[in-house]
Amino acid sequence: MNKDIEKKLIITIDGPSGAGKSTIARMLSKALGYVYIDTGAMYRGIAYAFMNRRQEAEIDEFLEHLSIRFNFTDGTRVFLEDRDISDEIRTPEVTSLASSLSQKSPVRQYLTKIQREIGRDGGVVLEGRDTGSIVFPDADIKFYLDADPEERARRRHLEFKSKGIDTGLTEVKKDMSQRDRNDSERSIAPLIIPEGAVYIDTTGIDIQGVIGVLLKHVREKG
Ligand code: C5P
Repeated sequence: MNKDIEKKLIITIDGPSGAGKSTIARMLSKALGYVYIDTGAMYRGIAYAFMNRRQEAEIDEFLEHLSIRFNFTDGTRVFLEDRDISDEIRTPEVTSLASSLSQKSPVRQYLTKIQREIGRDGGVVLEGRDTGSIVFPDADIKFYLDADPEERARRRHLEFKSKGIDTGLTEVKKDMSQRDRNDSERSIAPLIIPEGAVYIDTTGIDIQGVIGVLLKHVREKG
């Protein structure tokens, strides 16, 4: 635990894809000795499981029989029937299904409940689309990270490349803007700047610079 910060805070980071949330949330949680909760990985886990389901089923019934587990000791790892699927949930197919399944209320209820249970005692950094608006509207500190759409697409493209996923920049841009639209326009838990959130535009700022800004806010609270 960082000596400057004595309280076990609940910190949320929301924003669109490619704004730098994951990298920043991971680094911030490390600096503070906090647990990092990547809520996007949880939505992806559900999507992967749904994609590979053995029987046709409505979403409620599917969730009732779902054997999925999350481990937060070193980032967010996802286990389906005890098999670690954390790497397999990063494909464009899973990304796209996660975006559409995340519009379904039973899926959001299922994951929101788990996220609240893990985060309620504090000492957590949650990252996603609704962590400061819905999951923990009374969080100690809320951040909203944003960046220019062109830069967000470039970052995502580089990330795909580093993982050996061969998707062109134009396609990444198209998918991202579709996903942004789905996330912002859905009727339940849409991506918004949560009330009281600190808005940070990460365009052209290096990661260390952003972490410095976040830590300053955390120190003021903690
Ligand atoms: O952040 P990531 O790209 O891994 O998230 C995958 C998808 O999961 C997002 O496009 C979004 O539709 C959904 N999601 C969500 N609420 C969250 C986190 C992710 O709806 N808190």
